Amino acid sequence: MFKPLNLDENKEKDNTQTTDVERVKCLIIGSGPAGYTAAVYAARANLEPVLYEGLQPGGQLTTTTEVENYPGYPEGVTGPVMMEDFKKQAQRFGTDIRWGLATKADFSGDIHKVWIDDKKKIEAEVVIIATGATAKYLGLEDEKKYAGGGVSACATCDGFFYRGKDVAVVGGGDTACEEAIYLSGLCKKVYMIVRRDVFRASKVMAERVKNTPNIEILWKHQTKGLLGENGVVEGAALVKNLGEDGEEELKIKIDGFFLAIGHKPNSDIFAKFLDTDSIGYINTTPGTSKTNVEGVFACGDVQDSKYRQAVTAAGSGCMAAIDAERYLSEKNG
Ligand code: FAD
Ligand code: NAP
Repeated sequence: MFKPLNLDENKEKDNTQTTDVERVKCLIIGSGPAGYTAAVYAARANLEPVLYEGLQPGGQLTTTTEVENYPGYPEGVTGPVMMEDFKKQAQRFGTDIRWGLATKADFSGDIHKVWIDDKKKIEAEVVIIATGATAKYLGLEDEKKYAGGGVSACATCDGFFYRGKDVAVVGGGDTACEEAIYLSGLCKKVYMIVRRDVFRASKVMAERVKNTPNIEILWKHQTKGLLGENGVVEGAALVKNLGEDGEEELKIKIDGFFLAIGHKPNSDIFAKFLDTDSIGYINTTPGTSKTNVEGVFACGDVQDSKYRQAVTAAGSGCMAAIDAERYLSEKNG
């Protein structure tokens, strides 16, 4: 789903880079709703932000069709169009938007250092990390084949499109339970495909699922593939008791296939310097975007395991730029 690295495009867009080391006031890493919103606020506060887009310009929403829950678009909007609007707004106030991937960071000093594509070094007074999180997929070829045709990793985002239909949720954790309960309010039937015979989820969530009449839990089931015509999901091929006595193949009829097997925050390159939780979400001081390192701020999904929505990402991007501006004002007098 990531756009392939286009080296020619890279050269064309990166013509602002003339030296191997560059000093900037404000570096923003990531071009999703959090990064672009931080850029709008930082640019308007004269922080002269430089923003690196990463391998997925526009972020996760460029992989979806309709976005119907972002305020300001009463008729809905496609993800790619919405993110182009975000980009234009950031550019309008002078954000320097560049193609490039942050590959290494050193937050040990007063000036923060970030390497782009393993070669160019950026020295920044403040860094805003907006690198998002990536939903985990099972790794089936069919997940790509039916992308946009019934495969989703976000029930809150896409559940609405399956009103009155049958869907499946893969996973047995709290997220899967939460997604299944949410979908049970919209859909006719929700299958939960759980690979073990127990939930990983907390007792309270598990009980809630078990007490929901239109959720059927398929214990010890795994997904072999998806079925359907013209790239639209119509069913799933499952196997029960894989590798054990009583192994059995079966098919279920579904219109939507929701993955809820966890997310991976894109924080690995910062992990040496920043506090994270056990999964890798960057810890921020509650109610702020401040990390444990002065002058380094985090916003959007990379620091949010709970809400993971475009509007919350954008809101926290605004907070990061305001926190960065106040930090610089206090530091520089
Ligand atoms: P992201 O959008 O994930 O953007 C991260 C950015 O960081 C990307 O530009 C990436 O290239 C960049 N990046 C990552 N690593 C690096 C690096 N090392 N160097 C430089 N850049 C880097 N939410 C809604 O509110 N409504 C919806 O309808 C909706 N639909 C969705 C549909 C799908 C299929 C998915 C996957 C998600 C959906 N979401 C929706 C959730 C929403 O997309 C996210 O909550 C939101 O995009 C998070 O924004 P973000 O800016 O934190 O990160
Ligand atoms: P999680 O707790 O890691 O659960 C992931 C689930 O997906 C597990 O059931 C796991 O099965 C299953 N899974 C993983 N890989 C799989 C694969 N390849 N095939 C099939 N199943 C697979 O992730 P999460 O549910 O996203 O939760 C993340 C954290 O957020 C947790 O700490 C959770 O408590 C928290 N959270 C809390 C709430 C809440 O309190 N309301 C809501 C959401 C999330 P196994 O169990 O067999 O490993």
